Amino acid sequence: MSPFAFLQKGPLWQIRGNASPAAATIQRAGSPLRGRPGPLPGQPGECVLPMDMSAKVLDLLEQGALPGRSALVACIDLYSAPEAEALRAALFARARAVARACFGRHIFVRGLVEFTNICRKDCYYCGIRRGNARAARYRMSPDHILACCVNGWNLGFRTFVLQGGEDPLFSDDVLAALVARIKAACPESAVTLSVGERSAASYAYLRRAGADRYLLRHETADATLYARLHPADQTFAERVRCLHDLKHAGYQTGAGMMVGLPGQTTEHLAKDLEFLYRLRPEMVGIGPFIPHNDTPLADFQAGSVARTLVMLALARLMLPRALLPATTALGTAAEDGREKGILAGANVLMPNVSPRENRKKYMLYNGKLSDGDEAAENMASLRRHIAALGYEIRMDRGDYAAGEGLPQACPRPPKAGA
Ligand code: SF4
Repeated sequence: MSPFAFLQKGPLWQIRGNASPAAATIQRAGSPLRGRPGPLPGQPGECVLPMDMSAKVLDLLEQGALPGRSALVACIDLYSAPEAEALRAALFARARAVARACFGRHIFVRGLVEFTNICRKDCYYCGIRRGNARAARYRMSPDHILACCVNGWNLGFRTFVLQGGEDPLFSDDVLAALVARIKAACPESAVTLSVGERSAASYAYLRRAGADRYLLRHETADATLYARLHPADQTFAERVRCLHDLKHAGYQTGAGMMVGLPGQTTEHLAKDLEFLYRLRPEMVGIGPFIPHNDTPLADFQAGSVARTLVMLALARLMLPRALLPATTALGTAAEDGREKGILAGANVLMPNVSPRENRKKYMLYNGKLSDGDEAAENMASLRRHIAALGYEIRMDRGDYAAGEGLPQACPRPPKAGA
């Protein structure tokens, strides 16, 4: 039987496409908001989330508290509904206000080097998964990667994101030496690694070598859905172990998820928010699922841009100081997706400083953008577009809660130990 048979019938399939009710419903059992016991008004067995209740959910997020699961579900559905444009606009304005209170009108840029598309993993949604025999593989040498960073540094970039598949050739020693060379050749720059699941010892070693940040999306915080999107040897428990080890090693750590994954329910998205709340990542990447033709998920539809933006805005309210990229997937899914992301609370862009000849080969999903404003050589155009939104590109490191341009006091810092 196909491993995706579960998606072709039954309740999960029926909600595919993120169909959202005009008015979200929540179960009567239990309170949707912590500390507010008792039933809510509505139909027998279920109730409509009133506007003032949705505002309370947003208030709680901004105050550093975590609303109950059913309230989060109702809130996500309410704001994602196709006809809820005015509501969404108000949510995005609120998220923008939080971002501006913490970062002003600054948008930080990172130079992205996609240095290998060879991967030992086989994630069912990924175009460069091990099992895709049609992918044209490439691997850059450390010298070549360093040259890309130096070129980026000369363009003004002060953060480099080294992103690749889990390529066994990039051992701890190879990566550590590379990080050290980049830090020496590009003074005052930050290095972000995005090279997948490794041991705690490996993360600690690379951190000692000078790596500052690490991106490792959790993809979905529901272990069952995670298991359906990965082979049996890739588990959610292992992903969580990695994220905790990264935090423990002292990285500014990035998590994140896809919105609109096949089989994903609104409850799964609520679990993603709960996961982020507990992990407190310094960076969060949120993008729509976009299928790749040469994967087992080729026939599934892409995630909703509106719902992705709602998740981005809710993440901004919950984690006011987090560095949130307007992702390439968002820019791929909608022509103005990057701009919409910024207007929903994002504050990071990652132009591509990889060699042109490799960019089309790092094809994680259909149509992934790698030129135009996604390309580092077009910074002038990117600056113009961002300025037209009323924002300003910043090339400095843009560290979590410490970089130049960050006010010392953010109005609603996350609660200590939360
Ligand atoms: S998502 Fe990452 S780990 Fe999974 S196959 Fe793609 S590159 Fe490899």
